[in-house]
Amino acid sequence: MEIPKKPVPIVNDWARPFWDAAKEQRLVIQKCKDCEKHIFYPRIACPHCSSDNVEWVDASGKGTVYSYTVVESNSPSAFLKDIPYVVAVVRLEEGVQMLSNVVGCEPGEVRCDMPVEVTFEKLDDEFTLPKFKPATR
Ligand SMILES: [Zn+2]
Repeated sequence: MEIPKKPVPIVNDWARPFWDAAKEQRLVIQKCKDCEKHIFYPRIACPHCSSDNVEWVDASGKGTVYSYTVVESNSPSAFLKDIPYVVAVVRLEEGVQMLSNVVGCEPGEVRCDMPVEVTFEKLDDEFTLPKFKPATR
């Protein structure tokens, strides 16, 4: 049986700045210039006040694990070689939540509310994925 390749992100025009920044190992999120709330995932208008007056800002890259699961069975798939791995919802200091992976520790060490910080994993010349590792503070 042929194992499929890992999927790559499908990038909308309004999400392009996120991926361009990730390629430079910077984590950016949107912020509404009218209600000043942070926004993630990328959108063309603010989900809080519907304004389209949104800008991109650097995120701190720091947050905590809100929830997670350890994937221990995932075959046949392109992720088979990665198991066990952690899929987590990370709540950034800016208040937005991001679905990602926690890396840099054993999956069994991950806990809810665990402090994490962004790290970057280059997928190919086009995509670098923001992931999270245990914080060093
Ligand atoms: Zn707003």
